[in-house]
Amino acid sequence: MTVYAAPGTPDSLMAFKPRYEHWIGGEWVKPIKGQYFENVSPVNGKPFTEVARGTAEDIDAALDAAHKAAPAWGKTSTTERAAVLHKIADVIEANLQMLAVAETWDNGKPIREPLNADLPLAADHFRYFAAAIRAQEGHFAEMDGDMTAYHYKEPLGVVGQIIPWNFPILMAVWKLAPALAAGNAVVLKPAEQTPASILVLIELIGDILPPGVLNIVNGFGAEAGKPLASSPRIRKIAFTGETTTGRLILQYASANIIPATLELGGKSPNMFFSDVADHDDAYYDKAQEGFALFAFNQGEVCTSPSRALIQKPIYDGFLGDAVKRTALAVQGNPLDTDTQVGAQASNDQLEKILSYIDIGKQEGATLLLGGERVDLGGDLSGGFYVQPTIFEGHNKMRLFQEEIFGPVVAVTSFNDYDDGISIANDTLYGLGAGVWSRNGNIAYRAGRDLQAGRVWVNNYHAYPAGAAFGGYKSSGIGRENSALALDHYQQTKNLLVSY
Ligand code: NAD
Repeated sequence: MTVYAAPGTPDSLMAFKPRYEHWIGGEWVKPIKGQYFENVSPVNGKPFTEVARGTAEDIDAALDAAHKAAPAWGKTSTTERAAVLHKIADVIEANLQMLAVAETWDNGKPIREPLNADLPLAADHFRYFAAAIRAQEGHFAEMDGDMTAYHYKEPLGVVGQIIPWNFPILMAVWKLAPALAAGNAVVLKPAEQTPASILVLIELIGDILPPGVLNIVNGFGAEAGKPLASSPRIRKIAFTGETTTGRLILQYASANIIPATLELGGKSPNMFFSDVADHDDAYYDKAQEGFALFAFNQGEVCTSPSRALIQKPIYDGFLGDAVKRTALAVQGNPLDTDTQVGAQASNDQLEKILSYIDIGKQEGATLLLGGERVDLGGDLSGGFYVQPTIFEGHNKMRLFQEEIFGPVVAVTSFNDYDDGISIANDTLYGLGAGVWSRNGNIAYRAGRDLQAGRVWVNNYHAYPAGAAFGGYKSSGIGRENSALALDHYQQTKNLLVSY
């Protein structure tokens, strides 16, 4: 067990600056209207820094810088761009613990997550896209007559990116790595709840890129996000966030006829077929752990397995074990490497989760575990903590249909295969899903029949670079994390040449 010291205390690996500006054109730039907003740590509920509050004027300044930088960056060789991305990955790896402290303090997640998952994955995503862009090949085709069609992939130019607060650094990297690899200049707006850890990363990597290739404008959705997403000066908008905001982004994009990639909400089913309980063995344990993952990152995960569907013959026994298993999850100081459940990212988010717990009770769901706000006492007493919560009910309840984005799972049973698939697919969303079965035929079939962009079969919540990720239905448009994402940041040039 290691407990990292809080930022700014004598033993800490890092301290936040008292104030952060925008990063525009390779330097820190004050907001044109001179306003700042407080950044609060969910760990103790206290403000720890203030951040530039961006407006349309700041977005324009960032777009000026991006447009200045884009032509030269777009003409660099793929080898040069790959080398830059590898350097960024090197810096993330060299500063892993310091960045993990920053990420935990800003977001509230247990530090084991950024140490073992978010940051190693962030570095690997840069390396993956460095390799993917170098591996990309154009093609040509001989036409009738004496013509040849040459096809080239060219960058789009300047692109806008808007991200949420649940994995601040990783969400930024998922978007930046393919966009930069493809040769675009970027203006990115972090979430207003968690701007600081990204800015700590920018302090480290900002100078690796030519000025203006990467620009960060901080601020709120309506004040900075909308002017970015609706600007006629971007050639694409990439967005991760709520489905309701995604609808607006698509409207802005349609006005300018630009493509939008949307990574939106989810209500992911996690299906446990009855053969899971054939033996009490390592596989059974793994499935139990797969159930408890709804509390992972406090449930603030777009693919959180927030609906558990258990086949009737094993329902009581499997669920009984799963409740006991979840109750063992260690909730505590997010900076302690033993902690498994940390703080919710904001007070608003905590209130939203508590309101859904009330809704669940009102609509007659049975509370099997948790359901309360937690006061961890001492220095953590103002933090945003809630117990992992298990409800039992049926799929028509709001608890099963609406995204809570907290450590709350809604559990129900199913009869046979068709019944299970039909309950699982009875949702607006289609982002993630889980299937647990020892029977390869069932597992494969269910994987294909579930309407979701990512189905984890006999595992849950791995996010390796190279596995395409994105939503079906109202969960989004487009794919990230795989070479497919390069297509979203490039346009095809065709030269039709006669000899
Ligand atoms: P949100 O939609 O409220 O905000 C996301 C971002 O959009 C923020 O930066 C915000 O400032 C900005 N924004 C808000 N209104 C805007 C507007 N009118 N124009 C432009 N920008 C605007 O979402 P959130 O609450 O920050 O994040 C949680 C949501 O993100 C959940 O629904 C979750 O499922 C989703 N999510 C999806 C994925 C995925 O890959 N599909 C990953 C992580 C999170």
